[in-house]
Amino acid sequence: MTAGTLTLVATPIGNLGDFSPRAAEVLGRAEIIACEDTRVTRKLLNLTGTSISARLVPYHDHNGAKMRPWLLEQLASGKAVALVSDAGTPLISDPGYKLVAACREQEIPVLSVPGPSAVLAALAVSGLPTDQFMFAGFLAATTSARRSQITELAALKATTIWFETPSRLAQSLAEMADILGPRKAVVARELTKLHEDVIRGDCHELAEHFAGAKPPKGEIVLLVAGAARDADKIDEATLEAMIRAEMDGQRLRDAVRAVVEATGLPRNRVYRTALKIDSADNADGQEDR
Ligand code: SAM
Repeated sequence: MTAGTLTLVATPIGNLGDFSPRAAEVLGRAEIIACEDTRVTRKLLNLTGTSISARLVPYHDHNGAKMRPWLLEQLASGKAVALVSDAGTPLISDPGYKLVAACREQEIPVLSVPGPSAVLAALAVSGLPTDQFMFAGFLAATTSARRSQITELAALKATTIWFETPSRLAQSLAEMADILGPRKAVVARELTKLHEDVIRGDCHELAEHFAGAKPPKGEIVLLVAGAARDADKIDEATLEAMIRAEMDGQRLRDAVRAVVEATGLPRNRVYRTALKIDSADNADGQEDR
């Protein structure tokens, strides 16, 4: 028997007009639609007037291990299965990766109906360089985990794209300002929806902007410019911020080594700046006594 096909179908991230004719056609022909949340998908199908004959089944992080063997069996027996998430492109910070990996291992065909994704929509409207970018997923919920996520990518020359929740936005921007220095950043909110909003500034300006107001409403993508492409152009403030982030809990020598590795800057320049920070901190400490 010929195996069925798993088709990954992108759905709108807010604007129903972005539901494509091909998405409607594939979902209309599917025999099984695996949904992150069947209620959300049913609502989308109703709102877009898409008629289906498929059985809708839940496939999410909590039932994936149980559902995967069943879905693979259905595919192996020739059924046409579509995979959708609540919004956007399945697999992008949405469940689905393990199902696709298992299909590939069993040589079950996988096709895509590409379409909306908050990642690319945000990058495209941001005004930040698009030639190289890194999608880094959700920023962590705890301060220490978030600071290590940011520090780990500090030397990357590509634009970095994060998902963030409104309640933590100001705090994360302040941490980015602290670790990355005055890099350009963009907050892209409610993309494709009525209250779409794109705010640009440097990390520090944006941190102040959002700290002074109630947490914004809606869904957010946070983008940050990459490290200066030419290492010699890393300005002193950025270098100081990177060294300070590394000096938190590390010896000066180890902090210098980490920043040299991350930036490719000459060791003597990094060392000079680290010594300046260290002696300024020591002087402050003595004044406080
Ligand atoms: N798979 C989806 C995609 O391709 O866009 C992403 C799903 S992820 C679970 C949800 C996150 O995407 C939200 O927390 C938010 O950070 C971002 N997001 C989704 N829709 C958005 C929108 N309309 N505007 C801004 N960010 C959005």
